[in-house]
Amino acid sequence: MDIFSLHNILIIIVILITAMLIVVFITGKKEEIENIKEFYAMGTVMQLKAYGRKSEKAIGEALERLDQIENRMSVFKTNSDISQINKKAGVGLQKVNVDTYYVINKAISYCRLSEGAFDITIRPLVGLWRIGSENPRLPNKKEIQEKQKLVNYKDIMLDEENCSIGLKSENQAIDVGGIAKGYAADEVRSIFVKNGIKSAIINLGGNIFVLGNKADGKPWKVGIQDPLKNRGEFVGIIAASNKSIVTSGNYERYFQVEGKKYHHIIDPRTGYPSESEIISITIISDLSIDGDGLSTGLYIMGVEKAYSLIESLPSVDAIFITSDKRIYVTSGIKDNFMLTKLNDYKLQI
Ligand code: AMP
Ligand code: MG
Repeated sequence: MDIFSLHNILIIIVILITAMLIVVFITGKKEEIENIKEFYAMGTVMQLKAYGRKSEKAIGEALERLDQIENRMSVFKTNSDISQINKKAGVGLQKVNVDTYYVINKAISYCRLSEGAFDITIRPLVGLWRIGSENPRLPNKKEIQEKQKLVNYKDIMLDEENCSIGLKSENQAIDVGGIAKGYAADEVRSIFVKNGIKSAIINLGGNIFVLGNKADGKPWKVGIQDPLKNRGEFVGIIAASNKSIVTSGNYERYFQVEGKKYHHIIDPRTGYPSESEIISITIISDLSIDGDGLSTGLYIMGVEKAYSLIESLPSVDAIFITSDKRIYVTSGIKDNFMLTKLNDYKLQI
């Protein structure tokens, strides 16, 4: 080989390496585009964080979809599907959008699974307490007993063919506040995936979905709030990718009367905020509608029943925190849950 061709080979190698570096630089740069949007919707603070070239467009589409879901499913919007169903209670069925039908139908399956602890006809009781609003109140026993009679998910009438839903008796009313955010998280995830987003965190006020991995290729880490401490203080951390992580806790919405805390998860059997030993429950699942639908009812059911129910469901896990400072973790999540140092909780295995 003469010196001239060796020189040529060296030039070719240098050109190839430079080209490769340019490709790595460009593709690497694409993944690093980060977009974050924080906003208030569905009565809570939401944050969308997405990586990728189309992340801005995807977040824009997600905001529109969230608005649409809220307009269809909020009990506070007079023209929503839910408000229309409630107005027609005892009169007839109301035609609704397919997404509202899907959410109610799915919710009913969780009402059944939780043996009525989760009951989306809870609205008359929720409306009585008004927890989470600006003027919550402590109702008297008589009022509670009266409203309690109206709560029964078995009175929901479904007509799939006509996409219509009704309630059997006058004054009955539906509230999908315990499940709609989960559905919304799944919808945002679909929009992100459709836009080619491979890495994102969808946080709809505690309904979290982690899409893909972090930019460094490692699973996302999600902190589990210490229910007895300030926001941002965690009892532990979950490592996950492509999972929904939904938490229901007594610290989310509550008010106090004479030192007693009244929170927003109402036990349909008593008409009062749930007094089970659980003060926080986190459900880890593939779909967020499942996690949300389960979180509210299982909170009420108590650890023993809820733990065995979760263990019987494939691909669903849970972390329960009880008032006696114990943390119960189901079998599938044990290896991916790390207790935070310096806390006084006892991990039950
Ligand atoms: P979550 O934060 O998912 O636990 O949902 C709590 C919300 O669900 C409350 O703010 C109410 O709107 C509604 N809710 C309260 N108690 C129940 C219940 N027993 N069954 C169904 N929904 C409920
Ligand atoms: Mg829920």
